[in-house]
Amino acid sequence: MEQEGESQELHLRGVAVSSGIGIGRVFFFSFIEGAIPQFIIAPKDIQSEIRRYRKALARCRADITLIQSRMQKEGADEGITILDSHLQILEDPLITTGIEEQIEETRINAEAVFYGQIKEYEECFNRMPDEFFRERFKDIQDISRRILGHLAQSLQISLADIPENSMVFANDIGPSEVAEANRNSIGGMVTETGGETSHAAIVAKAKGIPYVSHVDFQKMEGQRGAIAVIDGCQGLVILNPSQKTLAEYTAKRNELDLAYKQLKANSGLIAETIDGCKITLSANVDMVHELEELHECGGAGVGLFRSEYLYLVKEQFPSEEEQFESYKSLVENLHGMPAVIRTFDIGDDKHNPRDDKEGHKAPFLGKRAIRFLLDERELFKTQLRAILRASHYGNISVMFPMVSGLQELLDAKALFREAEKDLHGEGIPFSPNVRIGCMIELPSAALVCDVLAKECDFFSLGTNDLLQYTLAVDRTSQENTGLYQHSHPSVIRLIRMVVQESSRVGIPVTVCGEMAADPRMVALLLGLGVQGLSVGIRHIPVIKNAIRSCSIVSATNLADKVLQLESAEEIEQLVSSVYQKSMKDDFLSHLRRRQFHH
Ligand code: PEP
Ligand code: MG
Repeated sequence: MEQEGESQELHLRGVAVSSGIGIGRVFFFSFIEGAIPQFIIAPKDIQSEIRRYRKALARCRADITLIQSRMQKEGADEGITILDSHLQILEDPLITTGIEEQIEETRINAEAVFYGQIKEYEECFNRMPDEFFRERFKDIQDISRRILGHLAQSLQISLADIPENSMVFANDIGPSEVAEANRNSIGGMVTETGGETSHAAIVAKAKGIPYVSHVDFQKMEGQRGAIAVIDGCQGLVILNPSQKTLAEYTAKRNELDLAYKQLKANSGLIAETIDGCKITLSANVDMVHELEELHECGGAGVGLFRSEYLYLVKEQFPSEEEQFESYKSLVENLHGMPAVIRTFDIGDDKHNPRDDKEGHKAPFLGKRAIRFLLDERELFKTQLRAILRASHYGNISVMFPMVSGLQELLDAKALFREAEKDLHGEGIPFSPNVRIGCMIELPSAALVCDVLAKECDFFSLGTNDLLQYTLAVDRTSQENTGLYQHSHPSVIRLIRMVVQESSRVGIPVTVCGEMAADPRMVALLLGLGVQGLSVGIRHIPVIKNAIRSCSIVSATNLADKVLQLESAEEIEQLVSSVYQKSMKDDFLSHLRRRQFHH
């Protein structure tokens, strides 16, 4: 972390997670030392906010009384007297009704109002000439920490409700919290922790939210509401930017926006290579409301619907009816385009950091995804019934996550057939042609993919997990950035193997991990024989452009060369230089086309 001396501009370095430039005001989403969240309360919620504050005061009183009774047992009478004065402070109208009135007048949340008041007291006390009185502020500080602690426990805010163009600062953010966020409100994200392919990061990238992680918040005190620039390309956060910096970054942001808009303007073009090979370019979707953008970006359907977000947002499993409505609305909004619904994948990074209750987490290793579902058969069957029912209204495929071998796939299929039979018996309509797919995201599944291929209609390569398990690198941990290598030869060989085996049986392979969203990897994946790519909606224009800039002949040559290379670094270098060249050629041919037309 560095600070630029003369100006007030403060530079905080972190890790670039999601590219783009965000400019807006600092919004603290979680409690950070000295940085209290501030937001506007809806008029209908004012009274409950006041009740929340009263409750925090009551808990604070109860704490102090409890400590006093302990002290009495220990004979520490002097301490009891000091705590008596704390109880008196808690009765002071400035702390009780005064704060309540401010909440009512300003419609600002309790902690922000309270913290602002305490800061004012601090200034008053600091101005007192007498050391004895100045010291008394320590008591107020002590109580205020306690009150803020209780308020923190009862705080429930959603990124859906924050002011427009907020730069959100938080210790950590959960994937469903980002998924819920309104794109106009959240202009950028900064966290102290969080990994590059964690789900929060994937969602941020898919929504085009610039995101910098691993920033040290020590210097954030007093920065609430300050102007912040988030440079998600460089991994830099600038607080209180000078006019010059602001102008530079505004220009950079406009340039990036313009380039993206130009690519998006080509959304009507088909995803095919220069030599006419058509690629299925679809979208990874977490929430049904994202589909509007899918149509704007020109995706050919949904290649991965992460159904677990239905659970994550509600924090409980949705009923058959609720699921049916969601899946039905998904396919209806696709107007005949296909949707691949993946059954619940509850995993280690798919929870909110603020919900770490005992037993809440599903581990990365062990009972996750299909294993969890096969253990919870009723829950699994409910989901399969809902998917089948929705299949009556559109083009649906079902896909099983984290399959490690044949038996799991067979068990899941058996349950699926059972659900079909039940629905048939009940006279409920469903499509008899729902295709069954298997995610290949464990090395074990890749190694037995010849066996799996005979039992399903398609494969989807989940490279995010495939990398994590092949390279033994936790995808959520930033300490491992250098180790999490998309271009590791082992991963490329596994992909090659899966494509070869599936083509023997005649089933298609799509890549739905983040690797497919890296334009530099597109030619390599196509050259390896992958027929479909599924990426976050915002990546579609960029990936379509990459597909349209390469030929299958050159992509196959590239794949052959890559398979000879021995290190991730060499592969990375080769695919990057081939991509740069194709972009340059694309630009030149674009220019030539324009000259020709003129
Ligand atoms: C993957 O693992 O690559 C994948 C697409 O699934 P998820 O990121 O949801 O685990
Ligand atoms: Mg996965």
